[in-house]
Amino acid sequence: MGREQDDMLRRGIGMTSQRTRERLIQRLYEEGISNAKVLEVIRRTPRHLFVDEALAHRAYEDTALPIGHNQTISQPYMVARMSELLLEAGPLDKVMEIGTGSGYQTAVLSQLVERVFSVERIKVLQDRAKERLVELNLRNVVFRWGDGWEGWPALAPYNGIIVTAVATDVPQALLDQLAPGGRLVIPVGSGEVQQLMLIIREEQGFSRRVLGAVRFVPLLNGPLA
Ligand code: SAH
Repeated sequence: MGREQDDMLRRGIGMTSQRTRERLIQRLYEEGISNAKVLEVIRRTPRHLFVDEALAHRAYEDTALPIGHNQTISQPYMVARMSELLLEAGPLDKVMEIGTGSGYQTAVLSQLVERVFSVERIKVLQDRAKERLVELNLRNVVFRWGDGWEGWPALAPYNGIIVTAVATDVPQALLDQLAPGGRLVIPVGSGEVQQLMLIIREEQGFSRRVLGAVRFVPLLNGPLA
């Protein structure tokens, strides 16, 4: 790709005009996303750089899109909603993300919290995500190639944990790695029956809030080369 075209892509001129991006923000607002910071970060994050060029013209539709390996980039509404839930009680410094995928949610989070620790089981997806974040100069993220069911115990505890694939049960390791007051946003269930949950580590035990039906790809087992 030529330098000029590259610059254009980065600014989102051409196939992904500023107008299209504004429409997405308007839609997220109308659907109930009220955190202004979250909306602002989504406005300035070039989602078209996180999908294949052939799909770039659809990058500002409010829909999940394929990223290869049977995985999808999350729907913007879901990225916004989950980020908003994490931040509901105030700013967060350490956040762990399970399921880096394209790195889009990672890029959004990295502009909202101090540090992001992102775990992914598919190495090639993670490598590509890493490159994108460097290109965008988002440097407060570290990556681990591993199994999200285990979290990242060496760097625990986390003030926030976000899981971008649906788990059959809430992984015990993730509960263990939550700091006091820490918040875990996770889809739980399987197939067509999935609920988004917010779990908070209280002084004694955990509180749970069920936030409604969602649709995610499954949280699988073990790392994959
Ligand atoms: N937030 C990502 C969504 C990617 S889809 C984005 O917007 O692009 C879910 C991701 O979770 C996939 O990349 C998948 O490989 C990953 N995943 C599934 N099971 C996992 C596990 N056990 N550990 C780590 N990552 C996992």
